[in-house]
Amino acid sequence: MRRPFIAGNWKMNTSVTEAINLIREMKDGLKSFSSVDRVLCPPFVSLYAASELVKVTDIELGAQNMYFKEKGAFTGEISPLMLKGLCKFVILGHSERRQIFGESDAVINEKIKAAIAANLLPIMCVGETLEENEAGNTNSKLAGQIKAGLKDIAANKQMIVAYEPIWAIGTGKAATALQAAVTIKFIRENIGKVWDEETAGAVRILYGGSVTAANIAEFINEPQIDGALVGGASLKAGEFIDIVKQTADIKQRV
Ligand code: PEP
Repeated sequence: MRRPFIAGNWKMNTSVTEAINLIREMKDGLKSFSSVDRVLCPPFVSLYAASELVKVTDIELGAQNMYFKEKGAFTGEISPLMLKGLCKFVILGHSERRQIFGESDAVINEKIKAAIAANLLPIMCVGETLEENEAGNTNSKLAGQIKAGLKDIAANKQMIVAYEPIWAIGTGKAATALQAAVTIKFIRENIGKVWDEETAGAVRILYGGSVTAANIAEFINEPQIDGALVGGASLKAGEFIDIVKQTADIKQRV
């Protein structure tokens, strides 16, 4: 049984004050659903304040990115050692990092290695563009990202993978639950090829891309889908709590 997992990726939104207020708004509502891993990923500058606010709860935090070096002359970057103690998870290889900031599979692989070495749990994002999807190249793209992303990394059951079709991110046009489930099954099989079947069976795989309180149930009803990486809807306290609540209700029944 894989533990359900809902993460909110706040992206480059919220000032420190707004982040504090948003966590205050969410905290009590999120407390009730301890059968689900609830992870908030605010911007770096709010992580310390966030870590103080969630201290006495079982709400977890994640960073949205990090560099793979421990320290040194890397102006503007944040190292795994800086995140240690502030958060448990780190999103790596988000499509916005890949597309806007040119992060390659090789760089993402270095980051995953560095995160694991620092005892941070990576949430590795994979996903295809609209063109790749329409050309029937989704599976080859994902297989490549998984193989390269996990290269030379020991089998790790705590790894989280998020399937985020790029055409579904921030567009309001989510994949269908069936599409997502079929693709996530394929991703799991490919993790099994790089590592082994037992590990692949334990790794939690999320869907991400225009998830809202109105469509989360469809995704969560699919046994292959272990949770969601939520962008826009995670900035609304009531909606994010509702997403977590529906996940807890459905996964308890499945
Ligand atoms: C994301 O940023 O990972 C994401 C899935 O965004 P949204 O939910 O807004 O599509």
